[in-house]
Amino acid sequence: MAMSLQAQLSVFKYLLTTRMKGVEKYPVVMMLEPLFACNLECAGCGKIQYPTDILRKRLTPEECFESVEECGAPVVTVAGGEPLIHPDIDKIIQGLIDRKKVVYLCSNAILLEKNLHRFKPSPYLIFSIHLDGSEKTHDRMVCKDGVYKAAISAIKLAKAKGFQVMTNTTIFQGEDAAEFREFFDKNMRMGVDGMMISPGYAYEKAPQQDIFLKMEQTHAWFREALKDRKEKGWQFNHSPFYLDFLEGKRDYDCTPWGLPLRNVFGWQRPCYLMAEGGYASTYKELLETTDWALYGHASGNPKCANCMTHCGFEPTAVRDSFSGFGKFLEMVYDFATVKGPQKARATSDAIVASVENGGAVPAAAKPSPRDTAGVH
Ligand code: SF4
Ligand code: SF4
Repeated sequence: MAMSLQAQLSVFKYLLTTRMKGVEKYPVVMMLEPLFACNLECAGCGKIQYPTDILRKRLTPEECFESVEECGAPVVTVAGGEPLIHPDIDKIIQGLIDRKKVVYLCSNAILLEKNLHRFKPSPYLIFSIHLDGSEKTHDRMVCKDGVYKAAISAIKLAKAKGFQVMTNTTIFQGEDAAEFREFFDKNMRMGVDGMMISPGYAYEKAPQQDIFLKMEQTHAWFREALKDRKEKGWQFNHSPFYLDFLEGKRDYDCTPWGLPLRNVFGWQRPCYLMAEGGYASTYKELLETTDWALYGHASGNPKCANCMTHCGFEPTAVRDSFSGFGKFLEMVYDFATVKGPQKARATSDAIVASVENGGAVPAAAKPSPRDTAGVH
């Protein structure tokens, strides 16, 4: 992960204490979609094909806060639709930060520059900018010219104003792994705080259906694109175990309750990607009344067969990292070798200190003496 150290420690504290309490099913990241309306119509999007009366619906800030408090996840990703269209998005974001949630505000960035003044930089706030590759590829996938340039300009302005900014990239059929390796280099040179990447999910409602990768294609694509990722110093905002999974080096099934979605209909069943089971009115009801055996690779559900998205499988990778001390150290070591040495050392030392403290977050996470000595 590449979020601020303060935010990382609050997430680690939550994960450790939840694990120590023996809770079996718990949320890691809550997805919040306060509206479906968007100012783009991307080829692979399965979120915006609703009638106008649904596209006009908005969750109020109070509905958002009530759901976030009930769910209890330490991280909230605000998506849509385009969240910046929501008239109260600034109130929603500030309310989540006030509740000490790590907040990812997803945006296609078209409206970001003129809305930046509505937000304040915070260690708990990260702009997650939709960027599906280099200029030609991105503009093709969002079906509109000029969007890439608008996104890059907004990223640079947000960085200059002190915000944390990450990119969020979906990979589709036929994309060139070599082009994406250059794209990752370019993002890092631009100074983004992290990159998120996932194969697309074959939404039934997506306008184009021939663009989604099958599982073997996903393995092959990511093996090629991510080879020597540690040496390259790319900072992906994922558990290293999830990246291994994408490359076919780990075999996981999904954890759909780990990344639940609240939208204008309620809590979507079973997961962020599909609404086959309808909607629950609370997260508790979602957990207790969903027949989870119907979903995931092992279920044989054809809608799950090729799914390898981070929404379903990152929570599994995170749970795996916390399944034992050996696994945890493996994850910390992997994390530390991918990151720049100073930031990695500060983070991994703080994490280990947190473990040794029985899950307590150190009052001040300081870089270790090794950082200043520059030891790799
Ligand atoms: S920007 Fe996001 S929500 Fe809007 S159409 Fe594209 S993928 Fe869908
Ligand atoms: S595999 Fe899991 S995350 Fe993916 S669509 Fe099925 S239930 Fe959802």
